[in-house]
Amino acid sequence: MPTVQYPSHAVEALLADGTTAAIRAIGPADHAAVLDLHAERMSEDSRRLRFFGTSRRAPQMTADRLCGPQRPEPLALGAWVDGELVGEADCEPAEDRPEAAELALAVADAWQHRGVGTLLIEHLVHAARERGVRRFEAAMLADNLAVRRLFADLGLPVHRRFERGEVRVVVPLEEGAEHYREAVEQRGRTADVASLAALLFPRAVAVVGASRRVGSVGQAVLLKVRGNGFTGDLWAVNPYAQQVAGEPAYQSIATLPGTPDLAVLAVPAEAVPGAAEECGLAGVRALVVLAAGLDADEARQLMHACRRHSMRLVGPNSLGIAQLDPAVRLDAEFGGAAALPGTAGVAVQSGGVGIALLGQLARLGIGVSSFVSLGDKYDVSGNDLLQWWEEDGRTDLALLHLESFGNPRAFSRTARRVTRGMPVLTVDAGRSAAGRRGAASHTAAAATPTVTREALFRQAGITATRSIAELVGTAALLHSQPLPTARGVVAVISNAGGIGILAADACAEAGLDLPVLPASTTAELLELLPEGAGASNPVDTTAAVGPAELACCIDLMTGTRAIDALLVSIVPTALGTGGEHDPLSALLDGPARRRIPVVAVLPDQEAPVRYLTCADGGRLPAYADPAAAARALAHARDRARWLAEPPTAAAVPDTADSAVAQHLAQAFLADHPQGGWLDPKQTVDLLDCYDLPLTTSIWARDEHDVLLAARTLGQLGHEGKSVLKAYWPDQLHKSAAGAVRTGLSGVDEVRAAYREFEAHFGESMAGVVVQPMAAPGLELLAGVVQDQVFGPLVMLGLGGTATDLLDDRTARLAPLTERDLTTMVTGLRSAPLLLGRPGTPQVDLAALLRVLAGLSRMATDLPQLAEADLNPLIARPGGLLCVDARVRLEPRPAFDPTCDDCVARLPPLRSECHEPQRPRRHFHRVLRRSRSRRSLRPRQRRDVHEPTRRRSHPGDGLPHHGDRDHRLPPGRAASGGA
Ligand code: ADP
Ligand code: MG
Repeated sequence: MPTVQYPSHAVEALLADGTTAAIRAIGPADHAAVLDLHAERMSEDSRRLRFFGTSRRAPQMTADRLCGPQRPEPLALGAWVDGELVGEADCEPAEDRPEAAELALAVADAWQHRGVGTLLIEHLVHAARERGVRRFEAAMLADNLAVRRLFADLGLPVHRRFERGEVRVVVPLEEGAEHYREAVEQRGRTADVASLAALLFPRAVAVVGASRRVGSVGQAVLLKVRGNGFTGDLWAVNPYAQQVAGEPAYQSIATLPGTPDLAVLAVPAEAVPGAAEECGLAGVRALVVLAAGLDADEARQLMHACRRHSMRLVGPNSLGIAQLDPAVRLDAEFGGAAALPGTAGVAVQSGGVGIALLGQLARLGIGVSSFVSLGDKYDVSGNDLLQWWEEDGRTDLALLHLESFGNPRAFSRTARRVTRGMPVLTVDAGRSAAGRRGAASHTAAAATPTVTREALFRQAGITATRSIAELVGTAALLHSQPLPTARGVVAVISNAGGIGILAADACAEAGLDLPVLPASTTAELLELLPEGAGASNPVDTTAAVGPAELACCIDLMTGTRAIDALLVSIVPTALGTGGEHDPLSALLDGPARRRIPVVAVLPDQEAPVRYLTCADGGRLPAYADPAAAARALAHARDRARWLAEPPTAAAVPDTADSAVAQHLAQAFLADHPQGGWLDPKQTVDLLDCYDLPLTTSIWARDEHDVLLAARTLGQLGHEGKSVLKAYWPDQLHKSAAGAVRTGLSGVDEVRAAYREFEAHFGESMAGVVVQPMAAPGLELLAGVVQDQVFGPLVMLGLGGTATDLLDDRTARLAPLTERDLTTMVTGLRSAPLLLGRPGTPQVDLAALLRVLAGLSRMATDLPQLAEADLNPLIARPGGLLCVDARVRLEPRPAFDPTCDDCVARLPPLRSECHEPQRPRRHFHRVLRRSRSRRSLRPRQRRDVHEPTRRRSHPGDGLPHHGDRDHRLPPGRAASGGA
């Protein structure tokens, strides 16, 4: 197995305050920098902690050890900020125990306590694991508190031993992987959010390309920023004007009186790269690019500028952003109306949808906390916004109109976490094939037809609506009313029988439960209501009902435990509209919020949805169409159901050898840089890492071997039979091509089958797979697919020849929880076949759940896994056996703008990445600290659970360096600050 090598070029990563550091292997060329770090940039005390003494030669010896020509080389990584080496971590496997490596760490004094050490060790852990290192060992002086804290906070188990003023630590790298992964993710989220502060909490903004021309985008944005009371400095940049719309204009970014945190580029596409570079040179930390239609070259240059200068980027093709926090009050978008301040976070991909949404929310009276028009999403994505809102301390409702959320691998974890704390609503855009054609970013959504898309959104806790109107209607309910209980029993009450029936129909169609009310409730209602009223469900009060009686009925119904939500539909009648007899006053005179959600349906109102203001000043949503009210209630019920399910941990297979699997995947991709299908042997090796129950197979190249294999395996097979499968690279459906022969018994049948293969496939056949014949059972299919929106999905369905015919499948976001495992099985239409029924015993469900858990783990372990397909998986009461498995790997990431090769592959111009954050308290600390330093550096594309963000460029080698002889005595190791 080839050694996986850490890239010698830089990987960008974020420090805790959002500053970008470049992490790369230290090589011979870095001798001077390493010497400088240890000799000049560390105080005497830091050196004492680092070297356990004050030897003058220690820095030189370290530089020689890390950068000299000697072998064996240590694994040494450096962190660079703005070209300056700020820290170094290395580990050197012990000669006699290669699984143990002695760790050393040094951080420049000026960079201590900023997460440099932690970041370096995260990367080193990953690189060391890949080299087969199983534990780090290190020694430190007992008073080296910074490094002791670093180890304590790392998230890995640490075993300590005190020895004469020294602490000796052993850090096993394989134990507690889940806990470590969470710790790494959390650090990543903190850094990501900090990096967004320049964009979403700027203190100074420049509008570049602010034009004197009335009606131009630049001028419109400038006027909006000024008109809506931005609290920070605002500067206009225009090389040809002294003044723009009354503001003094500056010739260039470089001539501004200060450095803006954020620059809004309102220049034409061709001028974007130059302006971005100028901003970067001036120290701008975030860009909003309004121009659309950048060509591939301009896109590449823009990405390079952002990457080089650590700027976060919104757009291109953005309508702008708005931050309505009173401390900022920035409205830098060119939509028609001013955004209303409030608590809903809004992110849209399309500017047009943004304008519609902002307008509707403002009319309704739901204000916005922050608004971002993401446009072409080169960098900042929906995932970024979700994690920002989760921590900004203001947002309590998230509204998204996105074709995708950002890094699909991060999507499921981010969404599942954020939706616990606030409702996240989205419009499921691109449901239809025609819609997907329109959504340029979508190529392959075939894996997720609408029905499963809904299920997947639900699994992530996201409320997926089918239109903007439905989104706004549902937001109106969730923003003003309590959630119903998960049971979701709805009662309808109306002053007109026919209207009540329509509302009842709408509720039933929305999947709500409208049972007959309990006899006691019915009796009490009839007591209150006029003659001729009906009190089952819907309740018909008749038009003769007065406000007082109606109010009593509403109180009664909202008070009874039998009902979880109430829909009150009122039409105006000549009997009392407008005056004190108006039945609507029954609603308005009461409190807006009751024990259960209450919605009004006023069929004669003009607006599709609006708020009624109640006596207590609270708001109650009123809909024109009962179907809109019913759908909003159904969404609220679904959210309640989702919240009622306790968050369960990811299902972990009994055993999984993730490190070996990662090795195998990387080794394959080293040989196949473009990716491809694994051959039968590689497939078995990989699936074995997850204990997936593959049948025994023997790979044979000639007749003699085939006969031998068949004789051996036939004995294991059902009725002593064996199976032959012809193999050639990249084959798809073997049986359709006549490459599968089952039920072969005896030498003659096997020989005949083999000779037919030879005759038929000739030279193209690379060999034959021989298997024992499996006992008959229920043929299932299980596998992993990658979805552009949702990331890796685990699928289960009916397999074999029935696969396409019956199209009975379920899919769930990976990682699957324990609960997902069972709902996947019960969610199949053919579940009774698995669960057993009279005459058919249950299949081995425990084994099936283990397979699903293994697939989920494989999907989350391997970002390179493009698809895996176990078909069929033959299920019987006594066990489960897969007789055909296929796995395809792809290099990743599909598009990473920080990677030159990927940028060179533009378009498609889509950047995906990122992932979420940490408790609110922390946010404010990070925000304050980073703002005060004006060091809000962006970004690193963090992958969900692979701590070491690395760009995999096959062939990148480790520089050869290091020298055992010059190495400090064992134990002279860890130091510096964290
Ligand atoms: P492909 O899916 O490429 O056509 P498979 O290896 O899945 O090829 O074989 C096709 C069908 O042959 C399976 O669905 C299964 O019904 C049957 N089959 C294949 N291998 C075995 C086996 N070892 N034991 C029993 N049946 C098998
Ligand atoms: Mg098959």
